[in-house]
Amino acid sequence: MQSDTSLQRPKLFSELTLQSVLKKTLADIGLEELTEIQSRSLPALLEGRDLVGQSKTGSGKTLAFSLPILERIRLPNRRPQALILCPTRELCAQVARELRKFGRSLPGLQVLVLAGGEPLRFQLQGLEAGAHILVGTPGRMMDHIRRETLDLVGLRFLVLDEADRMLDMGFAEDMEQILKATPQDKQTIFFSATFPESVEQLSQKYQRQALSVSVADFEPAAQTIEQQLVEVAADAKLAALHRLLDLYKPETAIVFANFKAAIADIQKALTTWGVSAGALHGDLEQFDRDRVMAKLRNKSLRVLVATDVAARGLDVADLDLVINYDLPLKPEVYVHRIGRTGRAGQSGLAVSLATPREAFKIEAIETYTGIKLEKKKLDLPAANKPAASAKALFQGAAMTTLSIGGGRKDKLRPGDILGALTGEAGGLRADEVGKIEILDRIAYVAVAQSVGRHAIECLREGRIKGRKFTVEWIKS
Ligand code: ADP
Ligand code: MG
Repeated sequence: MQSDTSLQRPKLFSELTLQSVLKKTLADIGLEELTEIQSRSLPALLEGRDLVGQSKTGSGKTLAFSLPILERIRLPNRRPQALILCPTRELCAQVARELRKFGRSLPGLQVLVLAGGEPLRFQLQGLEAGAHILVGTPGRMMDHIRRETLDLVGLRFLVLDEADRMLDMGFAEDMEQILKATPQDKQTIFFSATFPESVEQLSQKYQRQALSVSVADFEPAAQTIEQQLVEVAADAKLAALHRLLDLYKPETAIVFANFKAAIADIQKALTTWGVSAGALHGDLEQFDRDRVMAKLRNKSLRVLVATDVAARGLDVADLDLVINYDLPLKPEVYVHRIGRTGRAGQSGLAVSLATPREAFKIEAIETYTGIKLEKKKLDLPAANKPAASAKALFQGAAMTTLSIGGGRKDKLRPGDILGALTGEAGGLRADEVGKIEILDRIAYVAVAQSVGRHAIECLREGRIKGRKFTVEWIKS
């Protein structure tokens, strides 16, 4: 695997390995600094690597795939060497215009557009005359392939520009046909504004060790989340987890694991360490999921252990710490996980545990995010196990949760519950009552640990909004 270019981030066009006539053209046109997607994809593209890149519209993707093509084109050979697929005729024309503009110093360069909705006759004439670069829509390109009017033997580049849109427009079959009909050893480049599963699948199927580069539209992660990496042996992960919690003492944290089996083990360990912990995995009923989430949000739980499936759409505001107990296979998932901390301009911390066998995942993550993870050493006990008598890590959670057997459909509002708890009968101080969440048929209220018993007794004996409701104390 070529990884040497993956973290190279040139700032200026003048730093790129390009022939001088191309550099001069760029300078003459007035381009100096690379955009982020260009900076992160061009070094690898100029080395000949396959790449799948995502960045928003207007970020300069055209130039990112055009420069490697222009750099390598063999002008004396007037046969198609690069084929670029775009979703519409207008986009084809636009890409061709850019190629001609940046390739204006290459004598005799021929760029031919083969888009649908244009007379075939002129396209055939153009092909007859010979062209170095073809830009076309997938449908029309397939027409030419079927008619055998294209000479694709010398093709060295295939670009899918706006791959996501072409798939949305129903070009999947044509695109795959074209990927198959072109020489094996070509360089393939996929670019799009979004990075859906469908593009990922196409990349898996047709690209070779493709570099995956993604530029977030806004990058909270880069700025505000500190990302650490702890290298551990597989059997030292629990000890490392213990150490991290002891070190950072988070108010609220999520520990991500890849499989359900690990979730149970981790939760069990946390409980023996005296950490209030909940678990979220794919097999839980919605009711239990809601309950665990409500407890995390209202600070009755300090640590949630979860799989990705379970955490999908998980909505928590301000986590202090995200721990990747296992690293995910896909870098996108990593970014998604750590995005749960450092929200709304708060600083966040994400720590990933990685075994030596997971080095390839680190490489993929660093390439994808463009950020180098900061290596952190932990002092672990010799046996790689937290001492059996590991003392309680930290005080239990600040709050505890009561559930009330009534909700929105019973016209219950937060004020009603707050009133019952802080009114004459309840006697709690306002700061002893935490978050109140009202669902359809159930409500969750957090109260300070120290007043849990009192609060439940008062709610059971008294009334809320003049009515009796069942009340339960969700202790664990
Ligand atoms: P995308 O394909 O990502 O939507 P384009 O490739 O169409 O974006 O680029 C948008 C505009 O930005 C074009 O006019 C292009 O010439 C210009 N552009 C590209 N790269 C740079 C750069 N490094 N500096 C300034 N302008 C650039
Ligand atoms: Mg574009």
